[in-house]
Amino acid sequence: MAKDYGEYFNIAHIEPLSHIYGPGDRFVVWFQGCALACDGCWNRDMWSFKSKQLVHRESLLEQILYTPSIQGVTFLGGEPLHQSGNLWWLIRQIRERSNLTIFLFTGYEEDELRQHNHLSNIHQLCDIAAIGRYRSDRRNTNQQWIGSENQIIIFPDESRESIKLQQVNQVEVIIDADESVRVLGFPDEDLRM
Ligand code: SF4
Repeated sequence: MAKDYGEYFNIAHIEPLSHIYGPGDRFVVWFQGCALACDGCWNRDMWSFKSKQLVHRESLLEQILYTPSIQGVTFLGGEPLHQSGNLWWLIRQIRERSNLTIFLFTGYEEDELRQHNHLSNIHQLCDIAAIGRYRSDRRNTNQQWIGSENQIIIFPDESRESIKLQQVNQVEVIIDADESVRVLGFPDEDLRM
């Protein structure tokens, strides 16, 4: 399923500097819109395809390239591959113009990715990919970056990242200058509350 916003991305949220969605310091983009409807999804507010923040793809590219001291970019959602035309354009541009590594989270399963011609792009353009639906009956938050045991992490052959996956539950708490607090990652219910 593809959603067409022209040359704009429909974005739910951006964190220009996060430490828990991949190796090192990363620019993280949450896409708005997901039709995969995983039971137990924690990001249901990102299911709607109504426009939330429309950001031109050139503008997002500039924001990423001009963010200092990051090692990579992470895309998650929502479902990034519902906006795949602009996403693959953006990733190609980032790779041509920087050494930033690419981490893609998708709820699609491997066979669906193959069917929609995304698997070859993942292998050619991504350094890490987290693949598969979130399943609440397989929930395990002690795996790095993924929330249920059926999901997989792949490092394509050409990946520029080589790290050993850990059994950890990482949570990041961001306190802004106005004292608003955001909790990222897969926190236990107590911390989420
Ligand atoms: S793919 Fe992600 S955002 Fe979409 S329903 Fe599943 S967990 Fe939620």
